[in-house]
Amino acid sequence: MARKPFIAGNWKMNMTAASGKQLIDELKPLVKGAKCDVALCVPAILIPAMTKAVKGSKIKIGAQNVHFAESGAYTGEISAEMLKEYGVKYVIIGHSERRQYFGETDETVNKRTLAALNNELTPIVCIGETLDERQVDLTEHVLTKQLEKGLEGVEDVTKLVIAYEPVWAIGTGKTATDGQAQETIKFIRKKLGKMYGVKNANKVKILYGGSMNAKNCKGLMAQPDIDGGLIGGASLKTDFATIVNYDK
Ligand code: PEP
Repeated sequence: MARKPFIAGNWKMNMTAASGKQLIDELKPLVKGAKCDVALCVPAILIPAMTKAVKGSKIKIGAQNVHFAESGAYTGEISAEMLKEYGVKYVIIGHSERRQYFGETDETVNKRTLAALNNELTPIVCIGETLDERQVDLTEHVLTKQLEKGLEGVEDVTKLVIAYEPVWAIGTGKTATDGQAQETIKFIRKKLGKMYGVKNANKVKILYGGSMNAKNCKGLMAQPDIDGGLIGGASLKTDFATIVNYDK
């Protein structure tokens, strides 16, 4: 089953309207012939300007979070409908930084995922174990729980993307080896197969994220179960285009 590769950047809380536009202008010609889908998940306030900046290119704009309610008294939050109005296609949900610093849980990941799907946004649902959990052999247990709780009530799993991001590899320069990433992502696909059937699981894009860069992307992308990358640090420079063009 051929799955179209997908490379998504996560700018986190970086860039301004000016520096973001400048980077996108540099990236546009560089990613022109790419065979994969490409997205940049930008800070919410930059969405209108970056949506304009990517026009005419294959780069789509994503958000980094979404609230689960349709509207209401949630000061500071942004709904899926608001994102959609500005042409947002993807939304990162449950990034480990949100779990670590902003109290995100599998339950809130679940609510946000359902809200995104209800508004035809494609959730990029992040899961991953900490170093402590890996060291005591809890990786599969943690991922199972994150998938079962985070995807509760999701009817069509092929409408979302999973990002496997081992917490110990995010922003640390420590990448999972090609073998570790493949083995874990294969486990995730197997688990999705048990939840949704093998045919559906084989259609789900599963990305690797965690210090993926211009040098290590080829090896990771060569793994049979890895369909792409969620790229933090390296998406803030033109290295992102090298990753998008990993097959050249
Ligand atoms: C991320 O933020 O999702 C990420 C993978 O970051 P980095 O590539 O910097 O490790």
